[in-house]
Amino acid sequence: KGERLRLPPWLKTEIPIGKNYNKLKNTLRELNLHTVCEEARCPNIGECWGGGEYATATATIMLMGDTCTRGCRFCSVKTARKPPPLDPNEPHNTAKAIAAWGLDYVVLTSVDRDDIIDGGSEHFAKTVSHLKELNSNILVECLTPDFRGDLKAVEKIALSGLDVYAHNVETVRQLQRHVRDPRANFDQSLSVLRHAKAVKPSILTKTSIMLGLGETDAQVYDAMTELRESGVDCLTLGQYMQPTRRHLKVEEYVTPEKFAHWEKTGNEMGFVYTASGPLVRSSYKAGEFFLKNLIE
Ligand code: SF4
Ligand code: SF4
Repeated sequence: KGERLRLPPWLKTEIPIGKNYNKLKNTLRELNLHTVCEEARCPNIGECWGGGEYATATATIMLMGDTCTRGCRFCSVKTARKPPPLDPNEPHNTAKAIAAWGLDYVVLTSVDRDDIIDGGSEHFAKTVSHLKELNSNILVECLTPDFRGDLKAVEKIALSGLDVYAHNVETVRQLQRHVRDPRANFDQSLSVLRHAKAVKPSILTKTSIMLGLGETDAQVYDAMTELRESGVDCLTLGQYMQPTRRHLKVEEYVTPEKFAHWEKTGNEMGFVYTASGPLVRSSYKAGEFFLKNLIE
């Protein structure tokens, strides 16, 4: 204890760069979009932006500013009690820029805005509906906050025209208090996912769990079972990486074999898809997985 774990070899590998990467990167400069892919220096950018067999490219855009009202212990986003107000032009401008960018799958996400009465759900929903007006072919996933369990806010987004409603439980039930901001919890997150599906059964719901925070295999299994029982369609599992020394330490580097085991377990449980691997992130090749599993 106290010592930091050494990075295992499977996390030091080079990641391939797909064919659309340069095109996307060059056009981004003119559009004034802020992608999580670039700002979080995500290691998967070559694969997500490069595209694959089914989807040309997936990218993640952050809405509602760069400052969060919460302070989860795994997350490096800036925190403030009262971040700057929302930009009322953001839904329109962002939708226009995304439509012009040439993606076929976009993930819209945001910081948590507990300082705003509806948590920003109207703002989020408007971005989706503008985007779908401009480009009805683009697939849209929203990765949303929990809105403190406000189901009206969830509903607004679920009915905005999106294709995938994502909300992350982040970790197993037993580690919620240790890992997430105290305003978040497992049951509240499950209720967000259940409600999104209840108001619009045709959308897919999706969640993500980080591994390596000290959870046991039985706890992971139980979390997956509960998610499936709540009707969650898609699951991603990835390695937790400590963003700075002030954040939670990595307790374990989970092996690629163990990730493969969870992928198999997820498939047996009946998720539409389970993406599981050391570098898998919530939005990892989301377009590719979506199209592959829905077309086939
Ligand atoms: Fe980071 Fe989201 Fe937690 Fe805010 S709510 S600190 S953005 S993980
Ligand atoms: Fe962007 Fe998510 Fe892919 Fe990373 S995993 S490059 S953040 S879309």
